[in-house]
Amino acid sequence: GLKAAQDSRVTPMMAQYIEIKAANPDSLLFYRMGDFYELFFEDAEIASQSLGIVLTKRGKHQGQDIPMCGVPVDRADDYLQRLIGLGHRVAVCEQTEDPAEAKKRGSKSVVRRDVVRLVTPGTITEERLLEPGRANFLLAIARRRVSDTQWCYGLAAVDISTGHFVVSETDALGLPAEIARFEPREILMPDVIHDDPQLSSFWRETRASITPLSREGLDPASAERRLKEYFAVATLDAFGSFGPAEITAAGSVLFYIEKTQIDSRPVLNPPSRENAGAALAIDAATRANLELTRTLSGERAGSLLATIDCTVTPGGARCLAERLAGPLTDPGMIRERHDAVEFLVDNADLRERLRRILKRSPDLARALSRLSLGRGGPRDLACVRDGLFAARELGLELAIAPNLPRELSANAQKLQSLRTDVADKLAAALADELPLLKRDGGFIRAGYDTNLDELRELQQDSRRFIAALQSRYANDTGCRTLRVKHNHMIGYFVEVPQNVGEDLLKEPFKDTFIHRQTMAGAMRFSTQELGELESKIASAADRALKIELGLFDAVTQELLDLSSDVASAAEAIAVIDVTAALADLAVRLDWTRPIVDTSLTFTAKEGRHPVVEAALKREGTAFIANDSDLSGKDAGHILLITGPNMGGKSTYLRQNALIVVLAQMGSFVPAKEAHIGVVDRLFSRVGAADDLARGRSTFMVEMVETAAILNQATARSLVILDEIGRGTSTFDGLSIAWAAIEHLHESNRCRALFATHFHELTALAERLPRIANATLKVTEWHGEVVFLHEVVPGAADRSYGLQVARLAGLPTAVVDRAKTILNELEKSDREHPKRALVDDLPLFAAQVRAEPVKAPQKDSLREALDALDPDQMTPREALDALYRLKAQR
Ligand code: ADP
Repeated sequence: GLKAAQDSRVTPMMAQYIEIKAANPDSLLFYRMGDFYELFFEDAEIASQSLGIVLTKRGKHQGQDIPMCGVPVDRADDYLQRLIGLGHRVAVCEQTEDPAEAKKRGSKSVVRRDVVRLVTPGTITEERLLEPGRANFLLAIARRRVSDTQWCYGLAAVDISTGHFVVSETDALGLPAEIARFEPREILMPDVIHDDPQLSSFWRETRASITPLSREGLDPASAERRLKEYFAVATLDAFGSFGPAEITAAGSVLFYIEKTQIDSRPVLNPPSRENAGAALAIDAATRANLELTRTLSGERAGSLLATIDCTVTPGGARCLAERLAGPLTDPGMIRERHDAVEFLVDNADLRERLRRILKRSPDLARALSRLSLGRGGPRDLACVRDGLFAARELGLELAIAPNLPRELSANAQKLQSLRTDVADKLAAALADELPLLKRDGGFIRAGYDTNLDELRELQQDSRRFIAALQSRYANDTGCRTLRVKHNHMIGYFVEVPQNVGEDLLKEPFKDTFIHRQTMAGAMRFSTQELGELESKIASAADRALKIELGLFDAVTQELLDLSSDVASAAEAIAVIDVTAALADLAVRLDWTRPIVDTSLTFTAKEGRHPVVEAALKREGTAFIANDSDLSGKDAGHILLITGPNMGGKSTYLRQNALIVVLAQMGSFVPAKEAHIGVVDRLFSRVGAADDLARGRSTFMVEMVETAAILNQATARSLVILDEIGRGTSTFDGLSIAWAAIEHLHESNRCRALFATHFHELTALAERLPRIANATLKVTEWHGEVVFLHEVVPGAADRSYGLQVARLAGLPTAVVDRAKTILNELEKSDREHPKRALVDDLPLFAAQVRAEPVKAPQKDSLREALDALDPDQMTPREALDALYRLKAQR
């Protein structure tokens, strides 16, 4: 309960606070008080808890102490970062007038304050709050009914920190994969979408923070108006043709940006539309499984992205991550990227020269965005200067290269048409050492502006005067230790030892020296001359800062007039960086250009898993390359892989999926040769992944995910299933796996790799024409299993589970015991073969299920042994026990 702003017992300041807080109920309010942002009431409690800072009190409200905590303004970024990371939103409330103004209005009046910005996870721009190599997407979702049962979803993703703006359209089935592609930090949507029962589990699992969107700005007409206004165009046609759901989403995202940025307008690129199906659809589970951008434990290191990222600019790193998150499906566009990479593979000199320039190219896009929002500092200008110089140099390098492929020449043109005279101006204007904040001044180079130089000269002169004064005062008073010093409380002052100070209080000094402070053993005095010099210095400093800020604003404006050219140059730099980085990678790791076309082919010769290979290389072990062929004429082949655990099944499965992702994102691939008929959707599932954190039974998760695949995979899709059916009883699991393969073969007709430990499934190859068996080769050496990691045709003859168990360090007694049990089980299996299963579906006759497994024979000696607990026995008891055992035999 905060209320009663008009309550007479409430101080004017508290009344103002309560009013502003009431307008921002969902955000923690950072209320500016001098050098601090202060938080009150519940906000203070939340912040002190989350940040581990002291909770104190300030005054009373309705008879109760007001809880309060504060963070220093100059360290606010760190605190903001932590609060945003914890899912909070923050409203930043600044003083919007000089405190002197408020005093003029009367002694009781408070300084005017206003919220100048809402900080939310999807709208941050501060360098320290952002990951350099990762886009920070704010995503809005809207939908429109297209039939009684069908919705069309529009998505609009904006990265305010770079101005990147993308819209796309999808249906309910495709929505999760489309959202996963952007990996948004914040999702905006109306309640109707959030509360849709079909989507609710998806929202629960997303890492993004979810912001409900009010009805405002949610109709296509006002959304369109908002878009036209923002980009100052009469029609949106120039940007592409958008569906109503896309326009609504794009309008909503702008609405939210305007709401959170208050008076500032970030520079945004016009929305670019991506055609439905332009990106390879990869749902969230598949992304997680294949560890595309982060590992299963959530880290970047060890992911595919981290392994292939050789970019040298932050923009390039973001572009690479975006390409990896959304590989293409149009063979023509994919080939253009391959042409560009190949060109730089073949032209090593050019590649090296480009990369040398790129290394000096800073984060142009993010600096530009901060400047456009009025949050930029001198270092952002320096960033733009270096970025523009790099753009110019890259443009020149590419201008002299003959026969550039289209992807490179198009981007070179963007650089060559860029005006870079602002960069020359910045180079002349900016000092060598730059402060973080423009209000600190001192960032304009000496010699750039005569007025500024004069004022600085004046300050210098005054300081020299002060030095001269010090020696004069020392002379006059005869005190050699007299010093002129400065602090913020009393400005310039004379400091002398206590005994000299006593003299200065008397004639003839008392008219010149005005006593200010007595310290332990020292006294401080001011003088009229010092006071005059002080105000001279202060006013010169003031005027100098004004000039510097004026220059800052002028050059920033000049830059912002070019902002769309600068933004597209930043993009061009990023693309060139990615292309050169992929070429560098291909050369160093010996990758090859894949053939990508519209066939349903899938062949890879000597394919490798890039991440496992890199890990093995660090240990000095070689990776065993393996071939794959899933090609079919009008339907894909299914490869069923059996083999011992640790043989390399999962690695082989994933390497084929990764080769597809790499090929379609425009990279070369880790194989000797690869030919890929373009894939529209990629699915990868691992059975029985422990998922207790999400509160669902592992088996349920597995089945939900398998269902998604069987419902969505087309003949163009690639499906990878690893140990599906493991999360339930053997017969349930086997039958589900069996039926799933049949469905993939008969209905989906997709290319698939299926790894399983159900050896029974290998019989399917005899019945279904497009299924083949493969296994991982193993040999035994001195009774130990040796994994060769080589994929060969055929079925595994045994599982080597016990050998693996022994390798894992299971006690020998347990392994031996397991061997006995296994022999018994296998014997009973031979006596009652289940071979019949293969021949007549449905799979399970009731008697098979009812078949009891014969218990292994009792063994009294072992029982007696088992009953002993050596840790609990005295040596005497142990000896007795040994005699008893011997007697039993
Ligand atoms: P499975 O799925 O059959 O249990 P994995 O694919 O998890 O086996 O592989 C187990 C380990 O074997 C991997 O961590 C890796 O170290 C090694 N390995 C797998 N495939 C290869 C290979 N082709 N060449 C070399 N080592 C491999």
